Amino acid sequence: MLLFTPGPTPVPEFARVAMAGETLHHRTPEFEAIFADARKLLFKLFNTDEVIMLASSGTGAMEAAVVNLCSDTLLSINSGKFGERFGKIAVASGLKNIEIKNEWHTPASVAEVVEALKANPQIDALAIQISESAGGLRHNVEEIAAAAKAINPNIMVIADGITAVGVERIDVTNIDCLIAGSQKALMLPPGLAILGLSNAAVEKIGSGKGYYLNLASEIKKQSQNTTAYTAATTLIIGLRSVLQHIEDNGGLEKLYADTEKRATAVLAALKAVGLHVYPTSPARSMTTIDDENASEIRNLLKNEFGVNVAGGQDHLKGKIFRINQMGLIEPYEIVWVVNAVELALQKLGRRDFDGTASRVFNETYFSLKQTNK
Ligand SMILES: *Cc1c(COP(=O)(O)O)cnc(C)c1O
Repeated sequence: MLLFTPGPTPVPEFARVAMAGETLHHRTPEFEAIFADARKLLFKLFNTDEVIMLASSGTGAMEAAVVNLCSDTLLSINSGKFGERFGKIAVASGLKNIEIKNEWHTPASVAEVVEALKANPQIDALAIQISESAGGLRHNVEEIAAAAKAINPNIMVIADGITAVGVERIDVTNIDCLIAGSQKALMLPPGLAILGLSNAAVEKIGSGKGYYLNLASEIKKQSQNTTAYTAATTLIIGLRSVLQHIEDNGGLEKLYADTEKRATAVLAALKAVGLHVYPTSPARSMTTIDDENASEIRNLLKNEFGVNVAGGQDHLKGKIFRINQMGLIEPYEIVWVVNAVELALQKLGRRDFDGTASRVFNETYFSLKQTNK
């Protein structure tokens, strides 16, 4: 079965092998050397002033960011389940939450954010997804963050990059906290979360808040290549292997370029067989299709063609399906996925199979179509 859900993503064999060794004690020079390597590679991936690893799922890092970087009111951008979660975290932490809510295919506009910030000067942090996985959309985080900083230079911008870090280069100029999680673009098992922090964020954190998620304790320890509590040793060994593999195989720029090419080719292939792309600004992390037969297509993909894709949650249950684009994916795997979608449409009596999806994928991915010169 091909796993094509936008998290968890498949763990490559070299990473599984790297994680199969004997358990290392976390307070040893052997593990600290591995931690130092992983940390160095993370600085390249994040481009931030500080980087912190946490033994938690991605939500733990979202909570750590909100608790440590917001002290009064959070402005949360809700265009889906993960954006909604930032607001719930704020309320659960005793903070005030102001929300900008849109349908799951619609990203927040710069104007909406500017209006909310001007009307509510007590907002001291903004939380937004770069790629909102609920509907597969890309928020214009770069412009929103710049506009927010122009209104209030002290505002903390928290960007959930759980399905964006490792997908595309993120401009962190106006981002104070960039979050990633192991089981999405980093191709690892779940359980490790990472936060990239700006110097301004480190300053605002000060002596930190909370206990396990107190980022001040972790900043102090991790700059010495250790952790405040037991490190997720196996996952950090896996992380080092994934990031080193990327370095040794063309680097991050090649990974980003391949991902963009693949996402573009899949969009073209699925549009060519008459399908409709759900988000108005699609993220590169996944391809999201809304369709009245979404459930049937998903079932046929799984039961007849060996492809596992994700459905929708809440009000989008049975209405969309989502195909992962994150990680190291071979063209011969993804071309089968678009071909299988076309076969499913034929089974549903929607169109005659003529190989359009794989042809358009190949033409786009391998730039086969000659342009007039
Ligand atoms: C998966 C995901 C999360 C939540 O991560 P968990 O590891 O499930 O806690 C948060 N934000 C986005 C954008 C995600 O895709």
